[in-house]
Amino acid sequence: MNVNYIFITGGVTSSLGKGIIIASLASILENRGLKVTLIKLDPYINMDASTINPTQNGEIFVTSDGAETNLDLGYYERFITTKMSRNNNFTAGYIYSEVLKKERQGAYLGVTIKVIPHITNAIKKHITKLGKKKYDIILVEVGGIVEDIESLPFLEAIRQMAVDIGKDKIIYIHLILLPYIKNVKEIKIKPTQYSIKKLLSIGIQPDVLICRSNYSLSNLEKIKIASFYNLSKQVIISLKDVSSIYKIPILLKKQGLDNYVCNKFKFNLRDTKLTKWKKILNTELNSKGYVNISIVGKYTKLPDAYKSVIEALKHGGLKNQVHVNIHLINSELIEIEGINILNKFDGILIPGGFGSRGIQGKLKTVQYARKKNIPYFGICLGMHIALIEFARNVVGMIDTDSTEFNSNCKNPIIKLISKNNYFNIKKLQKKMRLGNKQCKLNKLSLSYQLYNSSYIIERHRHQYKVNNLLINKLIQYGLLIAGRSIDKSFIEIIEIPNHPWFIGCQFHPEFISNPHNGHPLFIGFIKAAMKKINLN
Ligand code: GLN
Repeated sequence: MNVNYIFITGGVTSSLGKGIIIASLASILENRGLKVTLIKLDPYINMDASTINPTQNGEIFVTSDGAETNLDLGYYERFITTKMSRNNNFTAGYIYSEVLKKERQGAYLGVTIKVIPHITNAIKKHITKLGKKKYDIILVEVGGIVEDIESLPFLEAIRQMAVDIGKDKIIYIHLILLPYIKNVKEIKIKPTQYSIKKLLSIGIQPDVLICRSNYSLSNLEKIKIASFYNLSKQVIISLKDVSSIYKIPILLKKQGLDNYVCNKFKFNLRDTKLTKWKKILNTELNSKGYVNISIVGKYTKLPDAYKSVIEALKHGGLKNQVHVNIHLINSELIEIEGINILNKFDGILIPGGFGSRGIQGKLKTVQYARKKNIPYFGICLGMHIALIEFARNVVGMIDTDSTEFNSNCKNPIIKLISKNNYFNIKKLQKKMRLGNKQCKLNKLSLSYQLYNSSYIIERHRHQYKVNNLLINKLIQYGLLIAGRSIDKSFIEIIEIPNHPWFIGCQFHPEFISNPHNGHPLFIGFIKAAMKKINLN
């Protein structure tokens, strides 16, 4: 079977939602019966996303095989059923490092190493490698915009692919912004012209133009735009701003984008009604009311830093037929303005995080949620904080801490994962416990009820863990250990049973939630928040 490729590039400006759009198209194609997967190419020089502050490009999404990747992979997994892995995201830095390593090993036999062909060949190798798994279509997102200097090697590589495998197996989609100027009531296509000129100068003629604007383009406008670029009206796709990203598959389908793809690649398939997506939109329309949930973290200036958590909360809402209003609260603000800023929330979540900034505010947050019986959900760092608070204020271990915040602490309830635990962790992974790990649940726990299963598999990303030598004291004071790793060395879930809903987990459940099924912990958390305000 020959693989087909769809490449999406962006122009005019970044942040137009390439990831969501390409994932939506992939979802429609999957619904029509095709086997699809997605790749994200990131033009930055970092080896991967792991060291980048989440306030720059958003959260670090962890795949089941433990790769720390760009947040777009989260959208891919939420929209299609194929799972992502470390082979679905490459950065320019990774490609360069691979080429340089080979150069040092003498693999190039004395030739001068150049962007073309060495870097471009390495890029093409990674794109085509995935095809060996027999996909009908691989959809590839080129990060950044075509106007960026860093994007050039990627654009050159995808241009060459049309020559290598034939233009009939490739579709180029270009996503652009059409600004609307209010006082003349007109959309402006000049920025688009520049962007397409740039793309053409690289040798790529777009087959499809997806136009973001704040309203739907009329037929006349589509014809006008099409005529500028030697395209037919059919391939000018209008995408207005929408209230829910889950409308996008339906908007693309309405304009026949999937038919265009199937015709071009000669797939003769039954049509799809996208019932799955329509069901979600219906639920959104018929919600019983709303709950207010606060995410207390430190990367609050960029909501994308908590993208998967935000989405998983919304999925929890969908499953309970309730709208979830999400409020990002910087924990340092609690240190300044006091804990009362949390009094309007029906549930409090402390997500993952690193470092000691803002920890005092988070400790106060957990104490508040515990004492005031507000549903509390602590994820990774959020579980660490919950345990420190419990140990200090319930058990009386006033000097306990995490060695992440106080390396001299004598009785840390949270400490660095010891070397013995690294037997299955590759050296390269910076001593971080990453990716899928199995966990056994305690039959007496709420978590067991929620998952309805004794064994679960969840994704991890942490360097610190619960200190098994001290945990018994907390158990004596009522803490419940709801889940442990199979070898029992890691405590995976903790609960406070005499509280309406208090769960902390060592893993990141947000990464495996999707809009169709939700995730048991998020569904349970939202349900508890509804119960708090008597919304059933
Ligand atoms: N900083 C903590 C650790 O490394 C928590 C990590 C996280 O929240 N993902 O263990």
